Amino acid sequence: MNDDPNEKTVSSTWDRPFVPPESCPQKADVVIIGGGIVGVSTAWFLAKQGVDVVLCEKGHIAGEQSSRNWGWIRIQGRDRRELPMMIESMNIWRGLEVEIGEDVGFNRGGCLYMARNEKQLRKYADWITTARSFGLDTQIIEGKELDQHVSGASSQWLGAMYTASDSRAEPHKATPAIGRAAERSGATLLTSCAVRGIETEGGRLSAVVTEHGSIKTSTALCAAGAWTSMLCRSLGISVPQLQVRGTVARTSPADVILNGNVYDDRIGLRRRQDGGYTIAHGSVLDHFITPSTFRFAFKFLPALVKEMGALRISIGRPFFDELGAPSTWALDEESPFERTRVLNPQPNPRVLKRFCKSFNEVYPQLAGTRIVESWAGMVETTPDVVPVMCEHETIPGFHIATGLSGHGFGIGPGAGKALAAMLTGNDVGIDMKPFRLSRFFDGSPIRPESTI
Ligand SMILES: Cc1cc2nc3c(=O)[nH]c(=O)nc-3n(C[C@H](O)[C@H](O)[C@H](O)COP(=O)(O)OP(=O)(O)OC[C@H]3O[C@@H](n4cnc5c(N)ncnc54)[C@H](O)[C@@H]3O)c2cc1C
Repeated sequence: MNDDPNEKTVSSTWDRPFVPPESCPQKADVVIIGGGIVGVSTAWFLAKQGVDVVLCEKGHIAGEQSSRNWGWIRIQGRDRRELPMMIESMNIWRGLEVEIGEDVGFNRGGCLYMARNEKQLRKYADWITTARSFGLDTQIIEGKELDQHVSGASSQWLGAMYTASDSRAEPHKATPAIGRAAERSGATLLTSCAVRGIETEGGRLSAVVTEHGSIKTSTALCAAGAWTSMLCRSLGISVPQLQVRGTVARTSPADVILNGNVYDDRIGLRRRQDGGYTIAHGSVLDHFITPSTFRFAFKFLPALVKEMGALRISIGRPFFDELGAPSTWALDEESPFERTRVLNPQPNPRVLKRFCKSFNEVYPQLAGTRIVESWAGMVETTPDVVPVMCEHETIPGFHIATGLSGHGFGIGPGAGKALAAMLTGNDVGIDMKPFRLSRFFDGSPIRPESTI
């Protein structure tokens, strides 16, 4: 692994040469596929227990979603099924920098969902019942109280849902830092090392096949983010998963008008450790129609209806790219994962222009602040916008962790802890039934509670 802890830009996480590993271990207790926050957190928790774990990442650690996100560590507004894991995750985040001895930009700055009118405020007030049942500090604030959290806010908004304990961190620092902690605890992290598939013996997982050789193992975790559905399909496993593109930017250092995260339907804003802000559109996501859209359309219908206002749907090259991609491949030949080492979508210039305009209108006190970097990321999601985390019943030993949607950075360390327990047969301490893949096939109702 070759991650510079002092790197300054977000794109430096992925915009650098690929250096293949010098060698590939021949065996391991556990092999993890994917070096995003879920993969490295699981590797860290496993290594701390003395498990011999090897993580294979086709590109760079945190090259995809895990460095490109907004950096919100948010409990408020989540789906109830995710809350126990998220509460555990927040506890891990709070002690993370001390435990790993590295800076990840963690700050307990709070989170606000702003409401312009009574209807929006009532919707947020509904979630307070959920918050109370989980003992959370979420509350509704109104009028001048808003100004204590965002200067000048009461002139823009009626009220807000506010959680003081919600937090933020720097995505481009956090996942590589957890990766280094995993290595210090004994994990092996291989970058530029794509996994092509698996081998089985007597129906059980027996090896993970990488571009640099096979690793004999009885346990694997596929934490491949946006690539999970494709990899699993090649193994005969259907994982309903679709992707949306999110466009993000960061500003130069500017006046402190808030310390945490603020959302309204025009703009999402987070204070950055470097004194600037990470900004994005509050409610626009691009979905490119692909053959998967049709394959999974029925299952995604409830989520599509819920997100209809936010989605900008188009058809173009991604449709033909996916149509032309193989669904299976020989394990001794180059796979699609080596052909795209880093999924690096271009930011949508129209969305960028719109949220920069909103930034100036909604936050006139920051007028003149420059945009210094922009990027995009593909968010992957499941039909009920809740993750899949389970062992697959037809291939004992093969586990899947995917579909963390637009909330996976915050829950990542908690997911890693739960998955490490699951992989070693220990008590997870959390009900994992809501995360089983089979819920999409056994007739269970598909009910998205939160947005992507
Ligand atoms: C624009 C945007 C904004 C977001 N904002 C937030 C936010 O504010 N808060 C929040 O909590 N979440 C947010 N998210 C969501 C969050 O980033 C993701 O849920 C989370 O990072 C997912 O982590 P992961 O480890 O599952 O996947 P990823 O980070 O995508 O990692 C998967 C890795 O697997 C690798 N891989 C794939 N296939 C193979 C293979 N065959 N062999 C080897 N390696 C492979 C990939 O290269 C990739 O590095 C946002 C996401 C985006 C894109």
